[in-house]
Amino acid sequence: MIVEKLKQVRAQMAAVAAQHGRDPGSIRLMLVTKTVSAERIMTALAAGETLIGENKVQELQAKYEALSSHPHETHMIGHLQTNKVKDVIGYADCIQSLDRVKLAHKLQQRLEFEDKTIDALLQVNTSGEASKFGIAPEEALTLISEVRGCDRIRLRGLMTIGANTEDEDDIRRCFQLLKQIQQQAQQRYGDYSDFAELSMGMTYDMAIAIEEGSTMVRIGRAIFGER
Ligand SMILES: *Cc1c(COP(=O)(O)O)cnc(C)c1O
Repeated sequence: MIVEKLKQVRAQMAAVAAQHGRDPGSIRLMLVTKTVSAERIMTALAAGETLIGENKVQELQAKYEALSSHPHETHMIGHLQTNKVKDVIGYADCIQSLDRVKLAHKLQQRLEFEDKTIDALLQVNTSGEASKFGIAPEEALTLISEVRGCDRIRLRGLMTIGANTEDEDDIRRCFQLLKQIQQQAQQRYGDYSDFAELSMGMTYDMAIAIEEGSTMVRIGRAIFGER
């Protein structure tokens, strides 16, 4: 079942990429594994998948051991409280939910203490929905410059969640805005080629995200079923 769903999602990714003249190899598939058991995740890893995302530090830790026999990357994609920073380092390869200066400073401090570095994406609230975390679009460049001052954090790009609506134009605008912020940052910082990641697109808006330049789609339900 999971393996079949994976094939379907990958086929859809490839089809949409081809339709818009994009190389399917330039778009990574992240398996969003919140509420999914380690056993089911293992089925996907055994099928060749290499990237998973978790929303909660606790879940990340709980499944860590059980998944360790299959090499893979794990990204933290949920809201991260500053008091959980020490628990996430060592478990996550990338923090996609970096959205405020205080969190960046806390991460930097802890990473210095442990003599480590970590990858991160800046989460931008492109829809403006009050229920969503993420930095406001107009404050994103300021936060980027702050994070650039944190030498333990390697900022790789941006992440967003599309508007929660049936209106495709509204969803598309979110993804276009993320791309614009990336271009502004690249202009401001010159050769900023390390800032290439655009993590956007979920089960119901994956196609729009790929069309708008996503380099990483985060898919849960289409693979593991409804939560
Ligand atoms: C749950 C979640 C997803 C996956 O959503 P689906 O609709 O299950 O594909 C992607 N990104 C984030 C940040 C999530 O919390």
